Amino acid sequence: MVGFISLGCPKNLVDSEVMMGLLDHAGARLTSHPEEAEILIVNTCSFIDTAKQESIDTILEMAGHKVTGKARKLIVAGCLVERYRDEIRKSIPEVDAVVGTGELDAILEAAGLAASAAAPSHFNILSGSHAAEVRPGQESRSGAHKSESITSRAEGDHREQQGRFCRDDWQGAAHLLPTYLYDENTPRFLTTPKSSAYIKIAEGCDHPCSFCVIPNLRGKFRSRRFESVVAEAEQLVARGVREITLIGQDTTCYGEDLGMKDGLAQLLDALAQIEGLRWLRFLYAYPNRITNNLLATIARHDNICKYLDLPLQHAAPDVLKRMKRGGSPEIFFKTLEKVRAAVPGVVLRTSFIVGFPGESPSDFEILQEFIREAKFDWLGVFNYSDEEGSGAFSLDQKIQKRTIESRKRKLMKLQQSISKRAKQQWVGRELVLLAEGESEETPLLWEARTQFHAPEIDGKVYINDFGELPSLEPNRFYRAQITEAHDYDVVARILDGPL
Ligand code: SF4
Repeated sequence: MVGFISLGCPKNLVDSEVMMGLLDHAGARLTSHPEEAEILIVNTCSFIDTAKQESIDTILEMAGHKVTGKARKLIVAGCLVERYRDEIRKSIPEVDAVVGTGELDAILEAAGLAASAAAPSHFNILSGSHAAEVRPGQESRSGAHKSESITSRAEGDHREQQGRFCRDDWQGAAHLLPTYLYDENTPRFLTTPKSSAYIKIAEGCDHPCSFCVIPNLRGKFRSRRFESVVAEAEQLVARGVREITLIGQDTTCYGEDLGMKDGLAQLLDALAQIEGLRWLRFLYAYPNRITNNLLATIARHDNICKYLDLPLQHAAPDVLKRMKRGGSPEIFFKTLEKVRAAVPGVVLRTSFIVGFPGESPSDFEILQEFIREAKFDWLGVFNYSDEEGSGAFSLDQKIQKRTIESRKRKLMKLQQSISKRAKQQWVGRELVLLAEGESEETPLLWEARTQFHAPEIDGKVYINDFGELPSLEPNRFYRAQITEAHDYDVVARILDGPL
């Protein structure tokens, strides 16, 4: 019996699903009850300080089951392993094995299981008592399932020469960068609700953002083969998946290493033609890689969600320069105008970092002014986290935690008023909803999403009126009308369905 805990973002979740698929295929049984598990696996996140702390707390909590439960083996996987491979085993002796992001199939050896020679069943759906615990929020150096040949972009090679991916200061980190990519034949255990699934289309990142250690953790940018992604999507839809979210550190670079031009647009075009696929979206777009062709593709297909997640990180030119991203309010406004003109009704999400070293009061004012004018539908604000190994770690003029917190609060308050006004405009609109199930807050309400809400990320739609229907079915689509708006969430009544 194996208990699996997945921390962090959807990209880590796909890695977890691949490891669970490999374990399942090798004959392991998965459980959602850690106290019942003989083998416990924690797939960790190490993006920022709080994620690291959550990972360590969870490892320690699971280590307790070696004393109080049936666990005899504790395995730590994921980004924390890439960063602190030796340190984990030294400091937490209860940990029996570690598996990095670039060696997912080593999970079998770590768990003491042999890879099964039988043909994989590709997808198993995780449900009920057969479920592992997944707390929402890859590919092998030597993998049996490593089928993709790895290429790289000239930009990535250039950055490598400049030392972008260097791990020399990370004691214990494996010297080699991860290169693994899963493919359509890799077994995967789906943990998302049965109508939705993620597909990781690329791994790693070549960008030089100075606050970010993901390239050091995940390696150089590499795309999965076009045919592999299409085949996986077809298999998922054949299994009943109706919503696919393409993910990667930067999906807008998709295919560049394969010699493709406008690779993401080509991929979306092919996937949108899969019969039965109702919603298709991608996360995340890099601001200067949004081509006219990409926007035209989004606009052309009804089943591509009119939704774009475009992390801008800041708006003040000086801060963006030190972040090694570039840009300015003027440049970003042009991009937003271009997007809104090409995709009418598009909903935009972005995220910003506050408290980057040297962020002056006037930089912060530029950011506030930009947010006021840009009017994003969804906005996330993250506190700057000083990560050893990042370019920004050595910068001086660090901002005090108190100031960072207060800046974050200010931005959230500002966005609250923008969002409140925007959500009022939703009242009266008729939209298609994906019903998710009873609300955790009260059984009197159901929760749902529209195409303008990415899974687990944005606000919610609460259904308080089923219309003529006696009940709703989770994971089915309904036509509904928005009847009320709150700061971030809206309330709807069902008109008809399931569709
Ligand atoms: S684009 Fe920048 S922030 Fe995003 S993963 Fe790459 S380096 Fe990190």
